[in-house]
Amino acid sequence: MAGRAGGKPSMPTVGKTAPAVNRTVADGRVGDAFSLPTGPVDLAAIKPNATPVGPKRKKQAAKLMEKISVELAGLQEKLYAEAMGGGRRSILLVLQGMDTSGKDGVVEHVVGLVNPAGVHLVSFKKPTKEELQHDFLWRIEKQLPPSGRVGVFNRSHYEDVLVVKVHKLVPQRELTARYPKINDFEARLAAQGVVVVKCFLHISKEAQTERLLARLDDKTKFWKYNPGDVAERALWPAYQDAYALALQRCNTESAPWFIVPGDRKWYRNWAVAALLLEVLRAMDPQYPAADFDPAAEQKRVAAS
Ligand code: AMP
Ligand code: MG
Repeated sequence: MAGRAGGKPSMPTVGKTAPAVNRTVADGRVGDAFSLPTGPVDLAAIKPNATPVGPKRKKQAAKLMEKISVELAGLQEKLYAEAMGGGRRSILLVLQGMDTSGKDGVVEHVVGLVNPAGVHLVSFKKPTKEELQHDFLWRIEKQLPPSGRVGVFNRSHYEDVLVVKVHKLVPQRELTARYPKINDFEARLAAQGVVVVKCFLHISKEAQTERLLARLDDKTKFWKYNPGDVAERALWPAYQDAYALALQRCNTESAPWFIVPGDRKWYRNWAVAALLLEVLRAMDPQYPAADFDPAAEQKRVAAS
């Protein structure tokens, strides 16, 4: 896909008329609506309950999702088939967001719409001792999606400039060096045919309050609750700053960020599904031609 010059530096645009800066990956109105221009990112100015494009109500979203799921599943199968025929392309959906922002929900309700055989899902946790002995991208490289797959990272290498920044887990100089390293890494992926789609699920602190309380109010949700999340929640402003910086520094032409309003679950799911659909449509995967003669094979099958 041809590159395109970035837009003028201005404020983030979710909920407003968006300039087209992220058009190489999702080249349509959905990508536009959730893209951010170059320049400073002020997350406080972006509404987590905005509906800048698409459905305004839950019922409407449910109807749209039915349609999207059919086309999404069809295109994903084509991407998989293309790779069986020697194609080298894949998708990498990166999901980031505060605790309870809906990363698991997107995996269930959006990624769950397509054939799991074509999905490569990885959840990144606190690095192990072994992982910490290597460069931060070591464990990421090992999990890149094979050709034809939709890779999904539930958390990612961005944790290495998020939780790591907030808790000062590496010296400042090393942290600063990570942003360009991430950009180089992702540009390399893009050049190899991996379409990188990065979604920040943007929720309000109030939504997090509700969701944490809901987890404590229902014994079937206790397993989702982590008492440690409360300590992280106290660091909300530091996390928002770390996110703003990561979004700004790593919003590149080849691997753009999308800010997805996350306070309404139905909108968040629609948004990520619609974005993925836009990406797949732009990729336009193709079924491979047969490397045999179908008519001759028909006869052979019938005769056998
Ligand atoms: P969860 O996604 O709720 O299962 O939690 C995973 C935890 O792993 C979160 O607290 C993340 O901040 C943490 N984590 C993931 N990647 C890293 C990393 N590179 N360094 C430190 N902590 C991490
Ligand atoms: Mg958690």
